Amino acid sequence: MRDELNAVGRKGFDYLIVGAGFAGSVLAERLAAGLGKRVLLVDRRPHIGGNAYDHYNDDGILVHRYGPHIFHTNAPRIVEYLSRFTEWRPYEHRVLAEVDGQQVPIPINLTTLNRLYGLDLDEAGAERFLASRAEPVADIRTSEDVVINQIGRELYEKFFRGYTRKQWGLDPSQLDKSVTSRVPTRTNADDRYFGDSFQMMPLHGYTRMFEKMLDHPNIKVMVNTDFKEIRDEVQYDHLVYCGPIDEYFGYCYGKLPYRSLRFQHETVDRERFQPVAVVNYPAEDVPYTRITEYKHLTGQQHHKTSLTYEYPSAEGDPYYPIPRPENAELYKRYQALADATPGVTFLGRLGTYRYYNMDQVVGQALALYKRIEEAEHPQAEVELEEPLARQAT
Ligand code: FAD
Ligand code: UDP
Repeated sequence: MRDELNAVGRKGFDYLIVGAGFAGSVLAERLAAGLGKRVLLVDRRPHIGGNAYDHYNDDGILVHRYGPHIFHTNAPRIVEYLSRFTEWRPYEHRVLAEVDGQQVPIPINLTTLNRLYGLDLDEAGAERFLASRAEPVADIRTSEDVVINQIGRELYEKFFRGYTRKQWGLDPSQLDKSVTSRVPTRTNADDRYFGDSFQMMPLHGYTRMFEKMLDHPNIKVMVNTDFKEIRDEVQYDHLVYCGPIDEYFGYCYGKLPYRSLRFQHETVDRERFQPVAVVNYPAEDVPYTRITEYKHLTGQQHHKTSLTYEYPSAEGDPYYPIPRPENAELYKRYQALADATPGVTFLGRLGTYRYYNMDQVVGQALALYKRIEEAEHPQAEVELEEPLARQAT
C-alpha cells in the first residue's frame, strides 16, 4: 500500500474525502464529474458503499451486510441524480410486528387494530377507537409523549416501548420525539412502511450503484485505509470527513453517544422464511429487534433464503446517532470547533451527527456540492435549487 500511496501522493489531490458511503461517494462523483476535481476517497472498511453495502454471500444470495436498506424519498431530484447510476426495482416495504402471539402490520393501521382486538372496524371506527385511547400530552417532547398522545399507553407498550428500549438502550421518555415519529399511525388499510412518493431498490444492488458512481478517472478509491494512516502521507487542499466528528477531534469534549448493532447473518435451507421482508419483535424478552429476509427486497429467486437478526448493542461500529437534548448540546460544541477549523468540512450521518436516511444524506452531499460550485462559479446556473430543509422524508 505504501507504494500505491506514494504514487497517488506525489500527484496531490484537490479533495481528500474520508468515508465511501453515500455522503462521501456522492460528493466525490459531483466534484470529479461536475468540477473536474481530483479526489482521493478512502474508507477503513474493505469496501465502498458504507452502511448501504450489499454483496452476494457464499450461497449466491444478495444480502446487506449492515442490515436492511430500503430506498424511499419524496424528492424527485434525488431520484433523478441516483438514476444516473442505477436502474430500479419497484418495491414497497411492508413490516409485521409480532405482538401477543400474532404478526400484525406496523405502522399500526386498520388491520392491526382489527386483528389484535378481534374487531371489524372501518376507517371511521378506527379513528374513534384510537381517539378513545389516546392520552393527550400538552407538551410533546419525547418519543413516549408522541406515541401516547396518538394511540394511548396500551398500544404504546405493545409496539413501541420494548422495541425502543432494546434498540436504543434508553426508555422512549429519554429520547427525542423525532425517533418514534418516524413511524406513523394509520386508520386505513395502507400497510406500507413508508408513505413516500418514491419507493424502490437499486436493480442490481447498492454496491453496483456505488461502483458506477465512482467510476471516474479523477476519483481514486482506497479501501482498507484509515484516515489516520494517510493524513500526513498525501497532499490535498481540502478535507471532507464523513466519519464520526468526535473521533476526528480526538474526543476532546468526550464521546458522542452512538448506538451499535450486532448483525447475525444466516442462510436457511428453505425458499421462504417469513411473509414480508422485515418482522419486528418489540417484546423485551426477545433479544433481537427485527429479522430481515432479503429476497423480498431484491426479488431474487433462490431455493435457499438469507436472513439477518439485529441485536442492539452499546459496543461496536457507530450506526445510530442518539437523538436527545444532551447529545445535541455536545454535538453543537464539536460543530463550533469544526466551524473554527479551516480546510475541513463534515458531512453525512456520522460527520454531522444526524439520524438521516440515505436520501437525506444524498441531499446533504448535493447541497454541499452546490455551495462549492457556487463559490467557484458565482454566476453558474445551479442545477439543484431545492433547499435541503424543504426535502420531505
Ligand atoms: P456511512 O454509510 O456510515 O459511511 C461512513 C463511512 O466512513 C463508513 O464506511 C466508515 O467505514 C467510514 N469511515 C469512518 N471513519 C473513517 C476513518 N477514520 N477513515 C476511513 N474511513 C472512515 N436509510 C434509508 O434510507 N433506508 C433504510 O432502510 C435504512 N436502513 C438502515 C438500517 C440500518 C441498520 C442502519 C444502521 C442504517 C440504515 N439507514 C437507512 C441509514 C443509512 O445507512 C444512512 O443514511 C447512510 O448509509 C449514511 O451514509 P453516510 O455516508 O453518511 O455514512
Ligand atoms: N419503533 C418501535 N417499534 C417498531 C418500529 C419502530 O418502537 O415496531 C421505534 C423505535 O424506537 C425505532 C424507531 O421507531 O428505533 C424508528 O424506527 P425505524 O424503523 O425508522 O428505524 P430504523 O430503520 O432507522 O432502524
